Amino acid sequence: MDIEALRRDTPGTAHRIHLNNAGAGLLSRQTLKAVTSHLELEATIGGYEAADQERDRIDATYGHLARLVGGTADEIALFDNSTHAWNAAFYAMTFKPGDRILTGRAEYGSGVLAYLQTARRTGAEIVVVPDDESGRLDTTALANLIDDRTRLVGLTHVPTSGGLVNPAAEVGRITRAAGVPFLLDATQSVGQFPVDVAEIGCDMLTATGRKFLRGPRGTGFLWVRTEALAFLEPHVIEIAAATWDGRRGFTWNDGARRFGTWEAGYAGVLGLSTAVRQALDLGMDEIGRRTLALGARLREQLDAVPGITTYDLGRQRCAIVTCKVDTMATADTAAALAAHGINVSTTDPAQTQFDTEARGVHPLLRLSPHYYNTEAEIDRAVEVLADLAAAHRPRPQNGAPERV
Ligand SMILES: *Cc1c(COP(=O)(O)O)cnc(C)c1O
Repeated sequence: MDIEALRRDTPGTAHRIHLNNAGAGLLSRQTLKAVTSHLELEATIGGYEAADQERDRIDATYGHLARLVGGTADEIALFDNSTHAWNAAFYAMTFKPGDRILTGRAEYGSGVLAYLQTARRTGAEIVVVPDDESGRLDTTALANLIDDRTRLVGLTHVPTSGGLVNPAAEVGRITRAAGVPFLLDATQSVGQFPVDVAEIGCDMLTATGRKFLRGPRGTGFLWVRTEALAFLEPHVIEIAAATWDGRRGFTWNDGARRFGTWEAGYAGVLGLSTAVRQALDLGMDEIGRRTLALGARLREQLDAVPGITTYDLGRQRCAIVTCKVDTMATADTAAALAAHGINVSTTDPAQTQFDTEARGVHPLLRLSPHYYNTEAEIDRAVEVLADLAAAHRPRPQNGAPERV
């Protein structure tokens, strides 16, 4: 990977140290161009006419996304974000009183709310599978909890709130053996390291465009295994999802397109398409090696600074690093980093409810490098945080000698 060349093609790297790729990755020039050229084309020749002219490139997006996650083009539906893709899959299932949904502590805020609504509406029961001693989902506990009441296992691969990588493929082996549908929220993992639906064995997978995939905001997708269509009925219907039979009936369109919408922001779709092709060209193995290495470097260095604590769970960890300057409010630390031109974000207790219940550590500072970040940028962020920790060190009490 030629990091300097990749940075020259990433305008944002010139202005800031961007360690907020779990929030939104920086667009490459090529992706930016794909978006703006299409908007210009729409303004010049008309929106429908521009879509007609670019139809082949728009349609190719499904194939690129399929290659990225290991599925086929007809198993992909496009959305405006990951949440809507996840909702499309989740609300296509039906639950009755006594049915169980098994999930983990890493589950994302909107998914948790959907479970709570469904429990309230249908009488289904939500069971949060405990973590093992490392803090990842305990697969032995999951295997013991799965029974004939279990209608769904919902797992977040990498949480919004930390560097944990959940053992998705082990969960897949368990759900396949039990014949239970498996919905994987891969929003933070797709684009960060290789994610393969065949290897994982999930039935539905959702992701967003703007995070580690470096696509434009307002893009996302659902992958759904063809066989899973047998137990899914889209919760909403529209002219792009089904075909009128000429009388008073309709048939669902083939494959995952039955989840799609007629209208789409094609500038965003073409931007997403470009970003995905770039990830495929660079190679997800290569990208994964570098993001994980930068995350490990950052975490190890922070762990060595007195007055800073890191909070990432699990055995396998990724490029998301959560920490706290022990003596500072997280929002103040984030603001101080921003003043040094360093982009980070903070975790929100309400967006990771089960983790908040279990650990009560949020809000934390969240730093998330990508492959285009340099080692020097990581070191600079650590240096600024170490200075903040030193400046906010509690004063020694009762004239006790200060430790240095
Ligand atoms: C950001 C995030 C989502 C939501 O993605 P949107 O594209 O904002 O809808 C879902 N799950 C996880 C783990 C996330 O980090």
